[in-house]
Amino acid sequence: MKLTFWGAARTVTGSMHELTVGGSRYLLDCGLYQGRRKQAREVNGNLPFAAGSVEAVILSHAHTDHTGNLPTLVKNGFGGPVYATPATTDLCQAMLPDSAYLQERDAEFIRKRTRRRRSIGIEDEAEVMEPLYGIADAEAALRLFSSKLCAEPYQAGRGITATHIEAGHMLGSTSLYLELSENGKKTRLAYSGDIGRVNLPIIRDPQPMPPVDYAIMESTYGDRLHKDPGAVKDKLAEAVNRTAARGGRVIAPAFAVGRTQQVVLLLHELFNEKRCPRIPIFVDSPLAVNVTEVFRRHPYLFDEATNTFLRNGEDPFGFKQLRYVREVSESKALNDLRGPIMIISASGMCEAGRVLHHLANNIEDGRNTVLVTGFMAENTLGRRIVDKLPEVNIFGEPHRLRAEVVKLNELSGHADQRELLEWLEPMARTLKRVFLVHGEQSQSAALARAIEQRYKLPVSVPARGESFELA
Ligand SMILES: [Zn+2]
Repeated sequence: MKLTFWGAARTVTGSMHELTVGGSRYLLDCGLYQGRRKQAREVNGNLPFAAGSVEAVILSHAHTDHTGNLPTLVKNGFGGPVYATPATTDLCQAMLPDSAYLQERDAEFIRKRTRRRRSIGIEDEAEVMEPLYGIADAEAALRLFSSKLCAEPYQAGRGITATHIEAGHMLGSTSLYLELSENGKKTRLAYSGDIGRVNLPIIRDPQPMPPVDYAIMESTYGDRLHKDPGAVKDKLAEAVNRTAARGGRVIAPAFAVGRTQQVVLLLHELFNEKRCPRIPIFVDSPLAVNVTEVFRRHPYLFDEATNTFLRNGEDPFGFKQLRYVREVSESKALNDLRGPIMIISASGMCEAGRVLHHLANNIEDGRNTVLVTGFMAENTLGRRIVDKLPEVNIFGEPHRLRAEVVKLNELSGHADQRELLEWLEPMARTLKRVFLVHGEQSQSAALARAIEQRYKLPVSVPARGESFELA
């Protein structure tokens, strides 16, 4: 039995771990590596094994950095089953074609840029012009999905029984409990996926894991302690009230999957509690509209507070002054509306999508507010707004940043150091080794020290391509 780490090894994206049992190869997640275009293309496009030799893929949850390279695997010859919870399967139905569309559009952009540069005599260094994968590859991948419910063990292949366990990170997110057997020898392995937090809006809390021999564990916030998510509603109410009093607009860049639905739910609660003026709210992202439909189909995954809406005959993600916007013409028309409004739009880090138009049209007006709802990576427009640079470029044009900037950083879907240590606790007595993945080096190193100190366990932070025998 062997474990090899191919992604999210000493970094946070591209989760993919290879497990060999009885000579058969399995993948735990098959995520897209996200980084600078050229390097990302190289990592995602060149699989380190023959895709056709993979027996099955088991997915922890639907986020692109855990599922987004499945179409590449299929394009290269994989034809086995992809096991995932029903909600993950449904979310991937919306997200993988969207990812393929982005890949195709990005390739088109490069093609045009190269042509333009060559036409004025600039010899562009040869960049790949074919998309990493297309819609057809995404659709082929979706046909391989096989849905498995939480807490119900199933045979994922010869010598491997898998059980999905609620991870409390996003709708349908799970950790995996894997029972492996090879030549009469048995080993238990836990794969954390992304570990969520208690009391996040909408979703259920993470469930405890059974005892295991080895654990692969995420470490995104291995060196951080979060603020209490309870404060987020007050901050949201204050931002909306202040902006409405100025007669301004709230522009909220938000990830289409998860964060948009959380913000909508919090606004719904605030309106019911009469803590916000009833200004019109628009969710302007076709992906967010589709994903909200998926949320509505899986109410059994909601937490108590969200279920209260259903018991009262209310739609948690719909209320009178909320409109979902799909059409481009309708999105453009938002700019002509008068009076205070709020627009929730993607992409979350302001790198693409309709939110760019709303920011370009609104950030120069001091009555408006940019409401930051999630993590903004370095070198993104979102980060430049969070850092309150006096001037930012949008579509290549400079814009003065005069709008107020409010950060809601309490909604993180990832456990902090204290919560990560708690997740490990039920396994601590039987574990032989912990492998830390999905973290910047400083975060993984800090969590490794904390685990060694608290549980006296050996910890590894594997490099890309590093293998370990599971004895
Ligand atoms: Zn995730």
